[in-house]
Amino acid sequence: MLTRFAPSPTGDLHLGHAYSAALAHHAARAAGGQFRIRIDDIDGSRSREDYVAASLADLAWLGIDHDGEAVRQSARLGTYAAALDDLGSRGLVYPCFCTRADIAASLAAPHGSPNGSAGAIYPGTCRHLDAATRDRRMATEPHCWRLDMAAAAALAGDLDWEEAGQGRRAADSQAHGDIVLARKDAPASYHLASTLDDAAMGVTHVIRGADLIASTDVHRLLQALLGLPTPLYRHHALVCGPDGRRLAKRDAAASLAAFRDAGIDGPALAADLRAGRLPTGYSLQMP
Ligand code: GLU
Repeated sequence: MLTRFAPSPTGDLHLGHAYSAALAHHAARAAGGQFRIRIDDIDGSRSREDYVAASLADLAWLGIDHDGEAVRQSARLGTYAAALDDLGSRGLVYPCFCTRADIAASLAAPHGSPNGSAGAIYPGTCRHLDAATRDRRMATEPHCWRLDMAAAAALAGDLDWEEAGQGRRAADSQAHGDIVLARKDAPASYHLASTLDDAAMGVTHVIRGADLIASTDVHRLLQALLGLPTPLYRHHALVCGPDGRRLAKRDAAASLAAFRDAGIDGPALAADLRAGRLPTGYSLQMP
């Protein structure tokens, strides 16, 4: 049994991160398994070393120890590039030159956002560019790489995964449209990097917030395409603040540094969190 906590070093960890880390750490220790840390620092423009150090210090303060060195996504770019090449050689990815404004303009009607992120479903503008146009534009224009979702889903067939306490859950990857696998400004998207890393780290149990449950549709598809094993998943409730909204990195009052500065005992806080006892004003909610 091996699980992990994977903070993005783009801000201070807050009570929601502590809850997630405490659950995963406890699950690993209770099963005699391993608990690993992964630093999701693929986004070079937003990741900061001081947040890496602060995150590790916060976990140590909580009494959450981890096995091995923290894995850094920024050290694994070659692995992501090789997977992208592999998918490309099978005709499953294509370059996309659209800007956010292009995409917004070409969407006739607003779409929901199935993955909980800000983006709408990509309308497929660049999917059918001819080879000559592609080559010409690739030489001069910034581009990301997208998965041809219809082709990928047809190849992979019906997929599902085991969600703790719920049984099998169908992976509806088609609803996400042609997702980005490598960005203009980062060599791999969260979906690609996270899927490859979980497999390479030998993660057997992914324990993370329910805001990421829709992402698992995509991760399950990538596992099938890349011949990777599928871990068990447990998507837990999210910590909400006094205003009833899920915590965000900008909520300074909920940062672990603020609790530490207020003299709170870290290991006692971690024990309370994993027992579902939250500080006054905070609550757990399923999105
Ligand atoms: N770095 C991701 C986040 O902070 C981790 C997601 C995951 O656990 O897969 O949201």
